Amino acid sequence: MSTTRKSPPRSRSKATEPPFRVRRSKIHGRGVFATQPIRGGRRIVEYIGERVSHPEADRRYEDKAADDAHTFLFIVDAKTVVDAGVGGNAARYINHSCAPNCEAVITGGRIWIKSLRNIEPGEELHYNYRIGRCKDDPPDADEIYGCRCGAPRCRGTMLVGRRRRQPR
Ligand SMILES: [Zn+2]
Repeated sequence: MSTTRKSPPRSRSKATEPPFRVRRSKIHGRGVFATQPIRGGRRIVEYIGERVSHPEADRRYEDKAADDAHTFLFIVDAKTVVDAGVGGNAARYINHSCAPNCEAVITGGRIWIKSLRNIEPGEELHYNYRIGRCKDDPPDADEIYGCRCGAPRCRGTMLVGRRRRQPR
């Protein structure tokens, strides 16, 4: 056996560190904020967590769903939901906005948070959750999924489509 040089220490340049950190947000709870300039069109972070079936996701949160909009479920497709409540990373703290600077892109069954435009350090990252409506939503679903993103054209809800006017 020959003695070889040790490989050089792995560079910890800024480029390899995540360009964001988690801290308190005015929108809701914790949020994710840029710590470096982020160019538009960049994959910032993967939304990870345990991959479960829809029935399993429903089972996990059936008691909470009605009054707690803040689970960490992300629907990948008709078969799979990612539950970032189990093994999730910082991506689960990215808030919803009606005027987002990021989008969630699903490629090959994986979810990526991608910048829609250049983002300055200190800006909060957000994407449009586009939460679908269900027939069995409670009448106050828009309030449960209320949005306080502060955008001039904030829709006041994270749910897609028309607001329900009256309880059924
Ligand atoms: Zn909003």
